[in-house]
Amino acid sequence: MNIYVLLKKTFDTEEKIAVSGGVIEDDGAEFIINPYDEYAVEEAINQRDAHGGEVTVVTVGDEDSEKQLRTALAMGADKAVLINTEDDLEDGDQFTTAKVLEAFFADKEADLILAGNVAIDEASGQVGPRLASSLGISYVTTVTSLKIDGETVNIEKDVEGDVEIIETSLPLLVTCQQGLNDPRYPSLPGIMKAKKKPLEELEIDDLDLDEDDVEAKTRTTDIFLPPEKEAGRVLEGDVQDQVKELISLLKNEAKVL
Ligand SMILES: Cc1cc2nc3c(=O)[nH]c(=O)nc-3n(C[C@H](O)[C@H](O)[C@H](O)COP(=O)(O)OP(=O)(O)OC[C@H]3O[C@@H](n4cnc5c(N)ncnc54)[C@H](O)[C@@H]3O)c2cc1C
Repeated sequence: MNIYVLLKKTFDTEEKIAVSGGVIEDDGAEFIINPYDEYAVEEAINQRDAHGGEVTVVTVGDEDSEKQLRTALAMGADKAVLINTEDDLEDGDQFTTAKVLEAFFADKEADLILAGNVAIDEASGQVGPRLASSLGISYVTTVTSLKIDGETVNIEKDVEGDVEIIETSLPLLVTCQQGLNDPRYPSLPGIMKAKKKPLEELEIDDLDLDEDDVEAKTRTTDIFLPPEKEAGRVLEGDVQDQVKELISLLKNEAKVL
């Protein structure tokens, strides 16, 4: 089975992100594999081990994305592809990313493509469904269980806490939700092996694309952090007076009564 994982590098969730002039400052920030993509890598490895074939991890990124690809290889993926847009594209959006991936998959025979449910930074959840749609294959989002039997695929999908049971067939793209599996940590032998596993680097030229083909359809005009929370207020004194004061505050300040 030809299994592919779409992998995005994101800020480490522990990072304190600074926003200045509508731009996220990422100088010196630590980057990790988007956490939902770790479920996708783990699932891809498990499906390969059960059904044979190989796992290829693909990212649209820059030179530094090699680190996250090597981590996926150390977890157990077989091959990695870095589509490096650094020198060719200054700007991009979900359309750009999906279009680049569409060109990459044009000559591939993918049986199963796994993506994350959302990227934790921009969280549009668009890239997987957009790609499946342009490749003309089925897709199911927020998957928490995936069972493949021949061409038939049985899926459990999270719907805001409820479970939807779906039957579909390969080829298929799924986006992975928390609960699908427990992603493994790369082992030391895995890390050593990953250094020698194939990592192909492509540019958009290699995919017969030029800048105009992938020009962003949207422009981010501003990004800002939520306003700082004001400190809470502790009422003091006699309980009867506190209750009266609370009612007055809810009525006159919060205006919720
Ligand atoms: C050339 C270029 C320049 C960009 N410039 C900017 C910029 O200046 N400012 C800015 O804010 N953003 C920029 N982006 C990022 C872009 O706006 C989105 O972050 C990106 O398209 C993914 O959208 P998302 O984060 O909403 O992912 P989602 O759609 O939420 O991601 C869902 C899943 O899709 C897959 N996926 C998402 N992104 C990638 C990827 N890059 N490679 C492989 N798989 C992926 C992963 O499996 C992920 O879990 C740029 C992108 C490109 C290609």
